[in-house]
Amino acid sequence: MQGSRIHVLDESTINKIAAGEVIERPASVVKELIDNSIDANATDIRVEIKGSGTKSILVVDNGSGMSHQDASLAFTKHATSKISSIEDLDRVLTLGFRGEALASIASVCRVELTTRQENDISGTRVVVDSSGIKSISPAGSAVGTSIVVNDLFYSTPARKKYLKSLRTELANITDVVTRHAVAHPGISFTLVSDGKVIIRSPSSGELFDSIVHLYGADVARSLVPVEFRSEFVSISGYISKPELTRSGTDLQAFFINGRSIYSRVIANAVRLGYYTLLPKGRYPAAFLKLEIDPFHVDVNVHPTKREVRLSHEKEIESAITTAVEQALSTADLIPELRITK
Ligand code: ADP
Ligand code: MG
Repeated sequence: MQGSRIHVLDESTINKIAAGEVIERPASVVKELIDNSIDANATDIRVEIKGSGTKSILVVDNGSGMSHQDASLAFTKHATSKISSIEDLDRVLTLGFRGEALASIASVCRVELTTRQENDISGTRVVVDSSGIKSISPAGSAVGTSIVVNDLFYSTPARKKYLKSLRTELANITDVVTRHAVAHPGISFTLVSDGKVIIRSPSSGELFDSIVHLYGADVARSLVPVEFRSEFVSISGYISKPELTRSGTDLQAFFINGRSIYSRVIANAVRLGYYTLLPKGRYPAAFLKLEIDPFHVDVNVHPTKREVRLSHEKEIESAITTAVEQALSTADLIPELRITK
């Protein structure tokens, strides 16, 4: 065949394809918006969804808000206030830094953002959809930001087709809010689904209170505290006594520098710490916060940042195992022998 078959895709198609990497489902929208609220130092974050997020998602925070100028830039691709150069990634402690979430959400949904900073007299409202910004106008607003996302995936019907049942989408959203609430016990989170309050976190600042509230008293009763520090990581949180296990990892949540992450490596390191105390194929509860120098954590591995790469991974794994052993032994649950071997 003659001629050229290759052509560069138009901007709008590129955006919709790229959005698919970050915004897979309603829960991804909720995650990105909550991340932004946390980065804006909000202490109160309210999420209201309709139709498991497929109809609408509203996130209201009392964070820093945005200036008129920033509000109009926020939906631009790769526009971020969080980093300026690649070197900044070595120090990044904010949840966001890619400047992609709002642009991605707006390319597949209809969005209305209202925001005000503390010292601004008036706020700003931005209306945007897949064809771009519709309007920017002054608007009355409390200090903070509220974002309404309507008609999810209206511009990408193929994506819409692949949504799971409303029940599953709601479960995913509940999981996202739960994880954020556990990671940030000082922030008050509320999740309302079709008018019904699903989550209201206690915001006492204590991880244990959040676990009691979000996972129930039975889980909390079985927990022992973990506190351990090594050269590369400082670990704190709770694990369950060996009698509380599940067939999956649904009672596990791991956080690195305040970011909820999924890691089989960490889950295995925890399991190892139980030695032979766990029945085959069963997982304990574990809520562990890892503080690691951001220089040694590469968060730029996956568009949704749910996986991270660690330098000194082996040392961190063995620190987690030791932390678990020590916690169980302090609670007289495994022989001291194992630790001093
Ligand atoms: P990123 O979080 O990676 O910077 P986003 O597309 O999620 O990218 O957001 C773009 C920018 O908009 C952020 O860098 C931030 O300055 C601003 N922003 C977004 N959401 C909020 C919010 N809830 N409160 C204050 N500023 C926000
Ligand atoms: Mg963001």
